[in-house]
Formats: sequence, C-alpha cells, structure tokens
Amino acid sequence: MDYQIAENSLKDRVILVTGAGDGIGRQAAISYAAHGATVILLGRTVAKLEAVYDEIESLGYPQPAIIPMDMMGATKQNYLDMADTIEGQFGRLDGVLHNASLLGVLSPFDQLGEDTYDDVMQVNVKAQFLLTQAIMPLVKKAEDGRIVFTSSTVGHQGRSFWGAYSMSKFATEGMMQILADEMANTNVRVNAINPGGTRTGMRAKAFPAEDPSLLKTPEEIMPLYLYLMGPESKDVNGECIDAQPKRKPGAAS
Ligand code: NDP
Repeated sequence: MDYQIAENSLKDRVILVTGAGDGIGRQAAISYAAHGATVILLGRTVAKLEAVYDEIESLGYPQPAIIPMDMMGATKQNYLDMADTIEGQFGRLDGVLHNASLLGVLSPFDQLGEDTYDDVMQVNVKAQFLLTQAIMPLVKKAEDGRIVFTSSTVGHQGRSFWGAYSMSKFATEGMMQILADEMANTNVRVNAINPGGTRTGMRAKAFPAEDPSLLKTPEEIMPLYLYLMGPESKDVNGECIDAQPKRKPGAAS
C-alpha cells in the first residue's frame, strides 16, 4: 500500500519509542521527529540514545527526550514513575511505538532454555504490558491516541527453532487485539506492524549468512510506521500490518 503521509502529520505530538537507540526504533524516532513529533527515546544503552538525540537536534527537529531504561529489570513502579515524568514534562502522550525486543537464542524446542524463555518473555511481553498499563491514562486523553506494537511473521505463523521469540510475538499480537477491542469506541487506535526482514543487528543475528544488502533498510519501511502513528490511520484498529507485504518470509536469496 502506498501510504500518503502529510509532511507535518505528527506536529505537536509526543511519541514514546522503545528501543530507540538502534535498528528500526532509531529510524522510527528520527522519522517521527522529521514529521513534527517530540520523541521520547527509551532504551538501555544511553550512548546510543544520545547519538539519536544529537542527530535529531542537528537536523533541526523538535528537541527529543531520553529515558534510560532496561526493560529486562524495570518494574511496574518504574513505568508508573515514567508516566508521571512524561505527564509532568510534556503534559501529554499521543503515541507509543513498542519496538524494543530480544531475539534470544534460536534452537530446537526441546533445547530451549528456561532462562532464554524468561528473558524474552520479560522484555517482549511483560515489559510491554506494564508499560502500556502505565501510560494508557495519558494516551486515552490524546486527541488521536496511538499504540503500535511490533510483531513478526513468526508472531502469527510458528516456525521451527524460533521458540521463545515466536511465542512472545504471538502474545504481542494477542495483547494488541485485546487492547484494540477495548479501545474500539475511543480515540485510541491499537495496531501492530510486522516489519518483515529488515537490515538491522537483530536480523543479522538471526540470519548470519544472509547478504544484508538484499534487505530493506529501516528507512524504507517507515511509511507504515508513520501511517499507524498519525491521524491518517483513524479507521484502522486491531490489525497487524506487513510493512513488506510482497516479501517472502525467511532468508533473502
Ligand atoms: P535491534 O536489535 O536492531 O534493535 C532493538 C532495540 O531494542 C535496540 O535499540 C535495543 O537496545 C533495544 N532493546 C533490547 N532489549 C532491551 C531492553 N531490555 N531494554 C530496553 N531496550 C532494549 O532490532 P530491530 O531493529 O531489528 O527490531 C525492532 C523490532 O522489530 C523488534 O520488535 C523485532 O522483534 C521486530 N522485527 C524485526 C525484524 C527485522 O528483520 N529486523 C523482522 C521482524 C520483526 P540496545 O541497542 O541497547 O541493545
């Protein structure tokens, strides 16, 4: 689909991006800022967040903010405090991109370690759940509230060896559908994106032998990220949309 995004579609909006220091999250933060948003950069590696902050400032986009947070260890109280800080500093929150995820270890099901399972479920599912609960009161007050989750092809079709990551993405899609249904009669829209194979560190870890030049860059898949975060998607709710609908799942060849 050819998404038509107005140049200033996110003007004056405040948008939180998790995992904003690298890969797709980094690009989404820059793209949202380029369309007028004040972005809140959440992540665990402060140096990476600072680099994104500097890039956004140097491009003359609205001044962003940084929230250093490791979603592996963050508690419910940490997310509630974060929501208070956002409300105090900005007075509003219009959208959240749930992007941060762990790949974990790909292995046969019977060798999937309990630690890997726990870590992946903690970052990819429980942290998203706690963060979402904490910020919903703010997002519900927004004129066009948007919650965008990130799934994967293995979030709706299981595949050998994708273990905990795949299970976590099924859970993400479930969370998205439940929340979308509850928000159906409000101004909040809740959807998910399946980016499809995209040139990032996580992708290289999952497919080390793949030629990255055959993959789309994060920048190339941004139209869908902008569409689902902006006013144009007001009639879309409860969907998981492919950023690369024509791409065949699996390694590029
Ligand atoms: P990357 O690994 O490149 O980036 C992930 C980001 O999440 C990093 O900034 C990372 O921080 C952050 N992150 C990881 N763990 C934590 C944590 N505990 N606390 C806070 N932040 C954390 O991944 P991608 O950009 O490739 O993936 C982005 C999303 O897209 C993910 O949800 C992924 O599952 C999904 N996806 C990606 C595909 C692809 O081909 N790239 C395909 C399908 C889905 P740090 O840099 O500090 O490690």
